Amino acid sequence: MDGSRTPQTPPVLILLGPPGAGKGTQARMLEDRFGLVQLSTGDLLRAAVASGSKAGKAAKAVMEAGDLVSDDIVIAILRDRLAQPDCANGVILDGFPRTTAQAEALDHMLADSGQQIDAAVLLEVDDVKMVVRIAGRFTCGDCGEGYHDTFKTPKVADTCDNCGARNMTRRADDNASTVMARLDAYHEQTAPLIAYYDGKGVLRRVDAMGEIGGIQSAIATLTESVMR
Ligand code: ADP
Ligand code: ZN
Repeated sequence: MDGSRTPQTPPVLILLGPPGAGKGTQARMLEDRFGLVQLSTGDLLRAAVASGSKAGKAAKAVMEAGDLVSDDIVIAILRDRLAQPDCANGVILDGFPRTTAQAEALDHMLADSGQQIDAAVLLEVDDVKMVVRIAGRFTCGDCGEGYHDTFKTPKVADTCDNCGARNMTRRADDNASTVMARLDAYHEQTAPLIAYYDGKGVLRRVDAMGEIGGIQSAIATLTESVMR
């Protein structure tokens, strides 16, 4: 990749990496700092489950088992979201694509609107440590800020630093047994995308085992370079 991009089209970044790698945390940083919109298929699917829609009903048990929801459902959800007006400033895809079929569908969607992928950022982590990371994490139910029992505790217990709400939630699938299934799904179905994006010249690797702040700076620098 020569680093240049068509200036008229909004940036498209993909965050790749296993569950627990920090995709959501980093996507939120990119939203704040670069005005991009985070599109998390995990969040969209959890909203579908909560709403009791047809897609949500189909996804619920699959997600609780740690398996991947069918490509048809996820692609349809992502396509609808991508068409909304706030995506016109550029997007960070968090948790999508997760299969080769999803990656190909994304290429077609973007081509239809004259867009392209600027970078697929791979958050490189140690799998074994992901189990601990995931089992300790929780989120503000009001604003979505992420926390961790060990690595990122709120300043006042049970109270969100960001919005002050006292409404922390833990995901149903964030338990040790489901995490193993999610890691397996990642290695079998998602890891092949590393070669897919490397082949397109857009893969960028970031060591994501250190402190959240250091990883943020590395990703911000990389994002600045591709958005130029
Ligand atoms: P994590 O990356 O920590 O596993 P996510 O919130 O991205 O968390 O995903 C949670 C679950 O939602 C996944 O285990 C899977 O069941 C489902 N899911 C999310 N994104 C996709 C996708 N692109 N394709 C298929 N299933 C997905
Ligand atoms: Zn909050």
